Amino acid sequence: MKHIVNSPQARDLRSHLHPFTNLAAHAEVGPNIFLRGDGIHVYDDAGRGYIEGLAGLWCASLGFSEERLVDAALRQMKALPFYHNFAHKAVEPAIELADYLVGKVSPPMGKVFFTNSGSEANDTQVKLVRYYNNLRGRPEKKKIIARRGAYHGITLAAASLTGLQYSHNAFDVPLPGFLHVTCPHYYHYAKEGESEAEFVARLVAELEQLIESEGPETIGAFIAEPVMGAGGVFPPPPGYFEAIEPLLRKHDILFIADEVITGFYRTGRMLGSDTCGIRPDMISMAKALSGGYQPIGAVMITDEIHEVLVEGSRRYGLFGHGFTYSGHPVPAAVALETQRIYDADAIETHVGAISPHFQARLRSLGQHPLVGEARGVGLIGAIELVEDKAGRRNFDPGKKVGPWVAQAAMEHGLIVRALVNDTIAICPPLIVTDRQIDQLFDALGAALEDAQAAFGTNG
Ligand code: PLP
Repeated sequence: MKHIVNSPQARDLRSHLHPFTNLAAHAEVGPNIFLRGDGIHVYDDAGRGYIEGLAGLWCASLGFSEERLVDAALRQMKALPFYHNFAHKAVEPAIELADYLVGKVSPPMGKVFFTNSGSEANDTQVKLVRYYNNLRGRPEKKKIIARRGAYHGITLAAASLTGLQYSHNAFDVPLPGFLHVTCPHYYHYAKEGESEAEFVARLVAELEQLIESEGPETIGAFIAEPVMGAGGVFPPPPGYFEAIEPLLRKHDILFIADEVITGFYRTGRMLGSDTCGIRPDMISMAKALSGGYQPIGAVMITDEIHEVLVEGSRRYGLFGHGFTYSGHPVPAAVALETQRIYDADAIETHVGAISPHFQARLRSLGQHPLVGEARGVGLIGAIELVEDKAGRRNFDPGKKVGPWVAQAAMEHGLIVRALVNDTIAICPPLIVTDRQIDQLFDALGAALEDAQAAFGTNG
């Protein structure tokens, strides 16, 4: 692809190292530059509009033109554009946001620590597990169990929690002390003839065996997304978390719920933990915390864990962890306004009202010859494309059928994301309407028809 010298495209190719992009292909493909947003739509520099079917990166819960968030940022920028929360100082938006979250979430949480991202939230969790167990005189209780297929971010610790090959390749992660168990996706990982209940029992037994073989005294925490997101959108099979929780309690293993995607009404309730019946000890948040308008993440912990951190300060003085921008006033003000909008606009009620239609349209795609499974909950879902529907066999990854469908969807005015195993993820802004859900699935259906013509053998 040739670009005019010094065009934004040419400068992008010259200077910009893109995150999560095929760098070898980028010079050929070039950047697709976006200029503005309106409701659930975004518009590129050629003036083309798209439904943002993934809410950007699973985060723009209130769409792309919420003036109240712009005003909140501006008000805070004018009043105090930066100040920090180190050494007993504090800014009001951080205080109010922490207080709001503690009062609002249903698992009993005592304190909130702010980060700039989901990765930093999970990195902080790993450090807290270490600190907590060192303080409690159990320095060996630090290993963390995650699941294959999980996505927890990309710092060294967060990438070690992540169970996806593309985040590990050549980065020398996972670091020692990070363990992974089977992904709870029945469709793929069930054995021949195994019922869903048997599948769950096998996974719980696997976890128990791992805890026993490593030694429960060495396992500090278990981390899980209530509904796995970037790995493929996997709602938990019935009974999975119900069986895991007592096992963790029995061995005094902390449960970290990674709510970075599932937080804030995505699955219907405020937290994915509410939807999935989980009672975590620690919660990671980001993304829809601020509707994606400002970078902010959060870690919530129980009073009991906080007490141990306080004990640490009695011993060491300073709690030696914090980012320059922990509780930055502008992202905190925007996040607080986001929460107020969720309440004022009754977003939970709205999501409850429209998700049945979203799920019905999603599941009807399951009839398509290329779709092996259509799955989801609330306003998140995915379809997995397969070559052999009866045999549950994916296409050869080299054919890149998932990315092909995502590209075809763009031709039909829809942005969706292709995940591993040719899985197409759908996660629109929460403000989406019934009519827009129809437009979204009509466009995706048209892209599937294109794919059927290009790749189908049985249609
Ligand atoms: N945890 C989950 C469940 C995520 O989906 C993500 C990002 O997609 C992260 C953590 C990392 O968040 P960030 O990209 O803000 O670092």
